[in-house]
Amino acid sequence: MSSCTQNGSNREFVEGWTLAQTLGEGAYGEVKLLINRQTGEAVAMKMVDLKKHPDAVLSVRKEVCIQKILQDPHILRYFGKRSQGDIEYIFLEYAAGGELFDRIEPDIGMPQHEAQRYFTQLLSGVQYLHSRGVAHRDLKPENLLLDEHDNIKISDFGMATMFRMKGKERLLDKRCGTLPYVAPEVLVKPYHAQPADIWSCGVILVTMLAGELPWDQPSANCQEFVNWKENDQWTTKTPWSKLDTLAISLLRKVLAVQPAHRINLDKILDHKWCNMQFIDCDLKSHDVTDGDLRSPKSKRQCSSSDFSHPFDDSISRVYCSQPMPTMRNDVEADIAAGCGGINRSTNNNSAFEARNGFCFSQPALLDDLILCTQMNQTQSASQNVFQRLVRRMTRFFVTTQWDDTIRRLFTTLDKLGYTRKINDDSVVTISTTDRRKLRLVFKAHIIEMDGKILLDFRLSKGCGLEFKRRFIKIKQILEDIVLKGPTTWPIAIATNSVP
Ligand code: ATP
Ligand code: MG
Repeated sequence: MSSCTQNGSNREFVEGWTLAQTLGEGAYGEVKLLINRQTGEAVAMKMVDLKKHPDAVLSVRKEVCIQKILQDPHILRYFGKRSQGDIEYIFLEYAAGGELFDRIEPDIGMPQHEAQRYFTQLLSGVQYLHSRGVAHRDLKPENLLLDEHDNIKISDFGMATMFRMKGKERLLDKRCGTLPYVAPEVLVKPYHAQPADIWSCGVILVTMLAGELPWDQPSANCQEFVNWKENDQWTTKTPWSKLDTLAISLLRKVLAVQPAHRINLDKILDHKWCNMQFIDCDLKSHDVTDGDLRSPKSKRQCSSSDFSHPFDDSISRVYCSQPMPTMRNDVEADIAAGCGGINRSTNNNSAFEARNGFCFSQPALLDDLILCTQMNQTQSASQNVFQRLVRRMTRFFVTTQWDDTIRRLFTTLDKLGYTRKINDDSVVTISTTDRRKLRLVFKAHIIEMDGKILLDFRLSKGCGLEFKRRFIKIKQILEDIVLKGPTTWPIAIATNSVP
């Protein structure tokens, strides 16, 4: 195997694979896109520096251990891992559609039919997880990625655990998750795994429908939560006042404070709201009310598979044609015990560690083929500098040139009172605090593509919704230099583009 070459923007990583771009930033390192120059296959690579983050050792082992046993259309696929020195490389299915939080408009949300589609797909993925005895424990829009057909892919299993082994459920007692999404009993512990994940799904539904979180945390010192739990004052207040009665009736059951009274996944999927045929129109206004409801579809007509793109079938077929990993009891035990038995090989001779008979089963996607064709035309793929862009709303082209763009961006950030720092790769790190006084860090990548300047904003740390609120403010101030046109692109490929 060739060593990892880290110089330059688009570099050879392992033989035949090129590092195309950074997809995102996690708690322990970056996630990069790898492209196979021969086949055009795309794979996401999560890098974790265990020397810098010794606390990540256990969570990475657990994440890998759990993710490799999961195979479902709504769970991000795991392909393999590799260790090199202190760096762990985890290879995952590439989610070209970006993150769910990017589809949520702050304080508005999204049309009900979209929220219903995402929500039922999420529930289908969680149903699968629970059937395998796995609890996710950190479900939130930032951890729900989308594929190129806009299908939900549950990701980030860093906090996941086994709650059922050999048919026996165990109570969980680790206080983990993200406070606004966490179930109240998790803060008290011990707790049952399934209702806790279901609660998080309920909070996700609220954010999708209203574009805001219902509370900072589900505890007695949070007035919004107390209102929901104990008195009727919540009905006239946001986010609830933005929702129609059917959605509220479902949410009262999903966000039932007592876990024993909380509705289960089957019943949620049977609920009228999940089976309603909402008008699938290009609503200019997102403030949908009872008025956009039609008669309910027949029972369970809206199963997640109904919403899948026809290509999904082929994806499932490809996956199903691979040997299905079976879960051995000792693997179950390893996971519960923190994966003591995982292979921590540092063998550098194998490119990517193949697991369970499959390695790169990801089907060649249309976009990959386009990319591949372009590369063949230019003959020398290694000289061909390209960039694929993940679909994302938080970016725009500007009409200004490079220096002017930086000047305008800096003036805007200073005006808003944000701290900023630019590095040699023209990435501006922006830090501030959000409404809840929590740290919010995001990055603006300044990229030249076909002679135009693109400002690409990505969340690093903090709440996705708060990040989007800040992005909107910045874009408003820069309105006069924003190049008018569509705000989302399927996937753009530019040649000789990365500065
Ligand atoms: P955190 O704990 O902060 O959530 P993490 O270390 O668990 O971080 P991830 O959430 O897995 O990291 O990834 C960070 C970001 O990278 C994601 O929010 C997403 O934007 C991007 N990303 C991760 N995996 C993929 C993927 N497979 N395809 C496309 N983008 C991805
Ligand atoms: Mg994450």
